[in-house]
Amino acid sequence: MTLATSPKPLSISLQSCAKTFADGTRVLEPLDLDIRAGETLVLLGPSGCGKTTTLRLIAGLEQPDAGGRVLFDGVDVTAQSIESRNVGMVFQSYALFPNMTVAENIGYGLRIRKRPVAEQRTRVAEMLAMMRIEALADRSIDQLSGGQRQRVALARALAVQPRALLLDEPLTALDAQLRDALRVEINQLLRELGITAIYVTHDQAEAMALGDRIIVMSHGRVAQTGTPREIYHQPASPFVAGFIGTMNRLSGEMGPKGFVCAAGIVPWHGGHSAADEILFRPEDVRIAEEGEPADLVGTVAAAFFLGDRTRLFVDVGDRQPLVMESAARCTRGVGEQVRLRVDPQGVLDLSSHRGSH
Ligand code: ATP
Repeated sequence: MTLATSPKPLSISLQSCAKTFADGTRVLEPLDLDIRAGETLVLLGPSGCGKTTTLRLIAGLEQPDAGGRVLFDGVDVTAQSIESRNVGMVFQSYALFPNMTVAENIGYGLRIRKRPVAEQRTRVAEMLAMMRIEALADRSIDQLSGGQRQRVALARALAVQPRALLLDEPLTALDAQLRDALRVEINQLLRELGITAIYVTHDQAEAMALGDRIIVMSHGRVAQTGTPREIYHQPASPFVAGFIGTMNRLSGEMGPKGFVCAAGIVPWHGGHSAADEILFRPEDVRIAEEGEPADLVGTVAAAFFLGDRTRLFVDVGDRQPLVMESAARCTRGVGEQVRLRVDPQGVLDLSSHRGSH
């Protein structure tokens, strides 16, 4: 991959950026965000939580409510136009010009900036090579697949050497296999360019794969900020815990030997005495060895063979069955009793956060 030298990466701050639309809908509560120079920050959250609006505030496509400020490298750009902010944007819908060829699309930003023709030509060639779409240069947009269109959109956004790259669900319209492949490419591209990137998605696997840091949003607020590992292992609230990956929940109460629930006792003493629910990931529960004492006893409610492993749903007398994974060769069938061990190191108690976002 040929990489043209990029300008110094940008740091971006939002200070007290609330957003209320003309119809009175408040979609962002006052938001403070610091995006570090060169990082890929993912905005993750369910549909309607305000991710796109946040991105549009950064791009200059929306203005924050009075009092909100957007800073680029510490300089207030709140009143600056979209053009003078010079950020690149890539959308789910590609937003390419259908009446131009691939090369013309990629060169568009350079043409309107009136860059010398020779520079335009070199730059377009570099972008075509970087995205490995040289062969498509003279095609029209309607002759391209979804994945090819998104490569063109990326090339067009990067051609003008933007100070930062904003991506709004760029892979959502693609099928699963192509999404996986392009995710890897985007990851490599962002790393090699070292550009500051803000990536909006509602897909937690995508967020974990791409983000140096993730901001989980809910109802126009930040629910948690952290690295993918922090968010996965130390979710700040039941909302975050449930939104990222699969989380098991068991209700019960603390006793002298651990957390007592309908199916047994989890030997865990980390929570406060009033804990009435514990959480743990599928990877923190396993089938007990023969002769090994069990923490919980349950009944297999469903077993899905996934090829490399088997996913088990185990009824333990709670609202939801426990989800766990076992070796592919596991042949436990529905209705069979299973004895389980829970790793106390993976257990979380978020009882005191209940109801928070
Ligand atoms: P999605 O993934 O569905 O795009 P999102 O998290 O990106 O969701 P936003 O697009 O930021 O969410 O929208 C947040 C809320 O603001 C939504 O309820 C949306 O309907 C509302 N909204 C967006 N634009 C406007 C507008 N111009 N006027 C009124 N309400 C709007």
